[in-house]
Amino acid sequence: MNEFESVSIWHKETVLEALSAKLIKRGFNSVILNTADTIKDFISKTIPVDATIGLGGSVTLRETGIDVFLKSRGNTVFDHWDSSKSSGENIDARRKQLTSDYFLTSINAITLDGELVNIDGAGNRVAAMIFGPKHVIAIVGYNKITRSIDEAIWRTKNIASAKNCKRLGLSTPCAKTGFCMDCKLPVSVCRITTIIDYKPMHTEFTIILTPLDLGY
Ligand code: SF4
Repeated sequence: MNEFESVSIWHKETVLEALSAKLIKRGFNSVILNTADTIKDFISKTIPVDATIGLGGSVTLRETGIDVFLKSRGNTVFDHWDSSKSSGENIDARRKQLTSDYFLTSINAITLDGELVNIDGAGNRVAAMIFGPKHVIAIVGYNKITRSIDEAIWRTKNIASAKNCKRLGLSTPCAKTGFCMDCKLPVSVCRITTIIDYKPMHTEFTIILTPLDLGY
C-alpha cells in the first residue's frame, strides 16, 4: 500500500466510524466490515440455517453472492428476483418476505447523520424494513452515503432508480438520459419514499457498513 492509499483508507474508516456511532444512537446495531467475505461470514454466523429469509430487491445482495450462499446452505429464501417464478409466485414471495425471520436488503441512501432513505415501486422492500420481519440486516456500501436527506433523495432517483430502470429495460426518462425527470408514468419505480430516522420499535435492525462500493 502506498502513502496515498493509506490516507484514503484512513478517511473512509474515520467517516464510517462516525456514521456507525450515529446509527447506534438511533437504536440500530452497527458493524463495519471491510470485504465481501467478512460480510458473508457475519451473515452466516448471525442467521441460523433453519431461519426463513426475505431478500429485498437489492443489487448489493446479488453482487456479494449472499443470495446464492443462503440458498445453497439450505435456508428457506423468499426471493422475488428468481426469474423462474410466475407472476403469482413473485407476489407470493414478496408477501412472505414481510413475515420472514430475517429480511436482508441494502439502503438506497444513508445520510452522514444516520437517516435511512429509500424509494420503492411495489413497496415490499420498504414495508419489510419497517415492520414484519423479526430482524432486518442492511448492507450499505460507501457509495450510498450522502450529506443530507435532500441529497439522499436526489441520489436515489438519479443513480439508484435510473440504473434500475436501465437494468430492467423500462421506458422511463431516466433510463434514457440518466437523470430523473420526475415522471408519473405507469412504469415508474418511484412511488413510495421512506425515511427511517430511528430503529423501528419492534424490529431488530443491523446495519453493515463497508468501505466497498456496492450496488446502485
Ligand atoms: S421518477 Fe421516473 S424518471 Fe424519475 S427516477 Fe423514478 S422512474 Fe426515473
